[in-house]
Amino acid sequence: MSPIPNTDWPSLQDEAVDLLKELVRIPSITPADATLEYPSVGETMVCRAIQDKLTKEGIASEILAKVERRGNIVARLKGDGTAKPVLLLGHLDVVGIDGNWTPSIHPFAADVVDGRMYGRGTADMKCIVVIHLMTMLAIKRYGIKHKRDVILAGVAAEESGSAVGVRWLIDKHWDKIAAEFSLNEGFTGGPQYDPRDSVPPEEKKLLWVGLEAIEKRILVAKITAIGHAGHASSAQADNAINRLATALYKLQAHPRPVTLNPISAAFAHAVRTYYGIDLTADPSARVQAMFTDAVVPTLIHGGTEIVVLPESASVTVVCRLLPTTKVGEFQQWLEAVVGGPGVEVTYSTVPPPGTPASSPNTALVAAYAKVAHRMYGDLPVLLTQGIGTTDSFYLRQKGVAAYGIHPLLDKIDENMHGPDESIPVDSFRQGVRMIMETVLELVT
Ligand SMILES: [Zn+2]
Repeated sequence: MSPIPNTDWPSLQDEAVDLLKELVRIPSITPADATLEYPSVGETMVCRAIQDKLTKEGIASEILAKVERRGNIVARLKGDGTAKPVLLLGHLDVVGIDGNWTPSIHPFAADVVDGRMYGRGTADMKCIVVIHLMTMLAIKRYGIKHKRDVILAGVAAEESGSAVGVRWLIDKHWDKIAAEFSLNEGFTGGPQYDPRDSVPPEEKKLLWVGLEAIEKRILVAKITAIGHAGHASSAQADNAINRLATALYKLQAHPRPVTLNPISAAFAHAVRTYYGIDLTADPSARVQAMFTDAVVPTLIHGGTEIVVLPESASVTVVCRLLPTTKVGEFQQWLEAVVGGPGVEVTYSTVPPPGTPASSPNTALVAAYAKVAHRMYGDLPVLLTQGIGTTDSFYLRQKGVAAYGIHPLLDKIDENMHGPDESIPVDSFRQGVRMIMETVLELVT
């Protein structure tokens, strides 16, 4: 039973929607993405807004910052000490405003149109920050007795490597955030529709409720081709751009193999058992990303003048590696695939080894499954492998059982990091209740 009366949820959900609008309206853009039109105000401004809410409810908090404008906020509700703490983690920064936003949609207005709230950070990830904050407010407001400390941490800089965010907190203030469990963003955690591209949107059914237990690591590679430089009056065979194109063609022609680990194998097995669907063989890009290393060219450079052959051309390739992929072996594979005369591969980001997955048999998983069954009936609750990379990685390195959530039921792409980012408000309201009840189930 939830310690919050049924009749109180609508007003808590209203409050969450208002809080989300308030946080989205603070443009806490990661500084590298800031522009004249959209300058960054820094995460400290978001910390202050959160601190305000906590203070009004009588909850103490601290803003901890390595760089003044880029603060992190930490607050703790002390339990009776009979069980270890749970950490509610979320990042306060957002990426910049790239791409073609619909002119009528302001990226920081948090307007609701046809049931969707639009704005940078609505999906990634102020929605979850708000759910965490609401959890703290509700525990205090309702005087809910709890055994575990509940720690809220809103952190900076996740979108740019977390050096002044969770990594710094772990380094300098570990005692303030150390916990047995954590809940943080995780794209594959939450109720999920059939992800296969072959199923038309109107036929998609809800298939499972996910909880992310492991994720990928990022390796950033740069492929550079060197060629004949000079006058562009003759079609030289060793043109750097041609060489780069050949390397990219070879890369696309060599997809990475499906490789399973205990979490992804159990997940694939469950989907096959319940629905007769073999996701591992499905060609949809998002499905393949669950089971293979994703190798994605994102930036290209080459040439200076229309009539000049450039000496070099390069492409940046972001590689999201499975937890079990060995970095050295992957690098050898990449270099062998794209290799050729005048082509070399360098790396700007090399990830640490993968961490073990968070256990499928914990009190947090049990609490989540219980609430998910209450809300979604017989849908299976499955541990998933994330296709992205989050701050949970650093917590798993410290031995925290970290899980990723995205409690938004949505058939439309939320376009995180893209134009017109948005979330369905109804489903956000449902997610508020789902995650708050999960935490209450876990801590009481
Ligand atoms: Zn995020």
